[in-house]
Amino acid sequence: MSNNPVIRVAVAVPLRALFDYLPPEGVNIGDLKPGIRLRVPFGRGERIAVLVEVVQQSEVAPELLKPVRQVLDESPLLESSYIEFLRWVAGYYHHPSGEVILSALPVYLRKGEPLVEKIEKAWQLTESGRALGPDQLKRAPRQQQIMQFMQSQQDSVSRQQLSENFDNFQAPLKVLVDKGFLQQTEKTKEQIPGHSTSPPPSLAVQQQQAVNSVLQQSGFQVSLLYGVTGSGKTEVYVAIANEILARGQQVMILVPEIALTPQLVSRIQARVSELLVTLHSGLSERERAYAWQEAVSGRARLVIGTRSAVFTPLLQTGLIIVDEEHDPSYKQQEGFRYSARDMAVALGKEKNCPVVLGSATPSFESLQNAYRRNYQLLKMTERAGNASLPSIELIDIRSVRLDGGFSPVTRRLIAEELEKDNQVMAFLNRRGYAPVLTCHDCGWVSQCHRCDARMTLHAGKNRLWCHHCGHQQPVPPKCPECGQQNLITLGQGTEQIEAVLNRYFPDASCVRIDHDSTRKKGSMHEKLDAIKEGKHQLLVGTQMLAKGHDFPDVTLVVVMDVDAGFYGTDFRSSERMSQLLMQVAGRAGRADKSGRVVIQTRHPDHPLLHLLIQQGYEAFSRQALQEREQACFPPYGFQVLIRAEASQADLPETFLEAAHKLADKPAKEAIDFWGPVPAAMQRKKGVHRFHLLLQTASRAGLHDFLHQWLPEIERLPQAKKVRWSIDIDPQDFYS
Ligand code: ADP
Ligand code: ZN
Ligand code: ZN
Repeated sequence: MSNNPVIRVAVAVPLRALFDYLPPEGVNIGDLKPGIRLRVPFGRGERIAVLVEVVQQSEVAPELLKPVRQVLDESPLLESSYIEFLRWVAGYYHHPSGEVILSALPVYLRKGEPLVEKIEKAWQLTESGRALGPDQLKRAPRQQQIMQFMQSQQDSVSRQQLSENFDNFQAPLKVLVDKGFLQQTEKTKEQIPGHSTSPPPSLAVQQQQAVNSVLQQSGFQVSLLYGVTGSGKTEVYVAIANEILARGQQVMILVPEIALTPQLVSRIQARVSELLVTLHSGLSERERAYAWQEAVSGRARLVIGTRSAVFTPLLQTGLIIVDEEHDPSYKQQEGFRYSARDMAVALGKEKNCPVVLGSATPSFESLQNAYRRNYQLLKMTERAGNASLPSIELIDIRSVRLDGGFSPVTRRLIAEELEKDNQVMAFLNRRGYAPVLTCHDCGWVSQCHRCDARMTLHAGKNRLWCHHCGHQQPVPPKCPECGQQNLITLGQGTEQIEAVLNRYFPDASCVRIDHDSTRKKGSMHEKLDAIKEGKHQLLVGTQMLAKGHDFPDVTLVVVMDVDAGFYGTDFRSSERMSQLLMQVAGRAGRADKSGRVVIQTRHPDHPLLHLLIQQGYEAFSRQALQEREQACFPPYGFQVLIRAEASQADLPETFLEAAHKLADKPAKEAIDFWGPVPAAMQRKKGVHRFHLLLQTASRAGLHDFLHQWLPEIERLPQAKKVRWSIDIDPQDFYS
């Protein structure tokens, strides 16, 4: 035990502890403030640490204390109160606090790099670009102009400089990069450009009411903005945000995936006159660190970001908005398994500011909070600008001969819309050509050798591909089992739907949007633009198509297969399916064209499906919530999932059994232990996986139990032989 003051730091290691150090030689401990970064010796190596606090004495023997190697920051990057918040978060998720605290820093700064100077994207000449003669590129005058400009400059040229000299330079610039005359680089920013403003539309009554209801409240208050697709939620966010900005506070807006919702960002950008930054995975580490610094320093007033942006310690948080709050991507599924939506609410409470959760299909958890009046429910039932909501119908495909997945009725409906020059969208949440390849003679199926799953046939690439582990192999020319050449496909994927539509309607142009067809950077954008411009009449896609895009000329949406979702393996399957269905349906019919949605199903009498279609999402949620209440499922109960995996089949189960045995009698009376059971996909990537689920009605009791139980599990000899993890409020039981 040491009686001199020591520095207590957080280090990103999987240990539930903070670590004590001495100040570096010649540094006064009083000059070291919580929130600065330090370089410390750790084990045989070195780590970047964040100073959490200075404590008056240490449990560690003085001779074991080591001095800090280097102080990296003059002033704190994280405030003390924010570090306390992060420690609370770590406690809530039972995750090592060092990892949680360090995760609040951008990766670049986590590596100990110095703060980033102002930087921005720029372009410079390549070797061949410099050598390009004045007469080359004569047939492409715009490219030629840009090259002449670039050659006249001493230095690299920023986007800002290009836009001052050229209109619409993006396309020719891209071509010049592709041709290898220019390359992208970064340069120091002289000045942060302001953003343009465009006048807001006058808000509809429901929009204005929602805005007023949020702004009337002072302090912490969660509002659930439940607005049907097209009701104009973005304008509501912007109106509230602008008022909070005018009060001199900062605003945080969380979105599920920026790459899929570029429209949202540009729409917000066009309405806000203060500096905003975006934080997402498309940025380089330096760009991201720079944007983070702008937000933390308070220079940037508005931050738009994906999941991890919730841990951006803004200087003056005045409002937090979570768009599409039901989206599963808010839950981190690896390592520190937090829910950004839930943490947004916790942060709002901490900062005593309003939180707005928006969705056309709110999560049932949030709806229940609204029904119980923990959250303020703000409903917008009408579409903005006179657009009407689509009608939804079921098409019974029992005993109907499907051709390529389409019923004859569906085909006729599509033909009718095409004749009227409208667009049609076919939705199927399964990519590839067919989910199974099988032998008609012996019954061989395209099983993945590493997973309990079938490999999907991708016809374009002529490969079998496991979507769970990524394993790929060429399509066998004949059956690997019996050698006959009688391999057939079962079921459909989007690739096949596209092929079938091309066969039916050779005069119409069909575009497919899924992960395979949009791998190339920018191709998503190009396809969306082409759809807007009416270059395609037929749209085929997975849930990528269902997210956030407006397709004003789509008048018919065909949902190819709804049944799997209603018979899924976990209690959230029907919630997810209904959300997806309502979101897909929401793409149809905007402005002056009304929309129609048809759903092909083999269970046209399914009561939940009927309830959803006839009485809508809210009635559906109330019914589903009642069922959950009876089973004590979330949000009525609280769950914790312990996952364990190992390549040896029996180890995960043995470990979880031992863990279960550690629980004492009072715990077993208060908490339901389910399992150990094999995961829904027991073998994945050659690894065997088991689950132990804990469920109880008392969250506090559950957390107390975990605090005592988890350290005991860690000490189990069986724990060393498996990979295991803890998931608080688990969302996904499949992965
Ligand atoms: P949501 O996010 O609720 O689905 P959006 O914010 O995308 O809806 O708005 C749908 C469409 O309605 C957009 O094209 C938007 O510009 C338009 N819109 C929103 N509010 C108004 C308004 N008050 N007047 C006219 N058009 C509006
Ligand atoms: Zn065979
Ligand atoms: Zn696999």
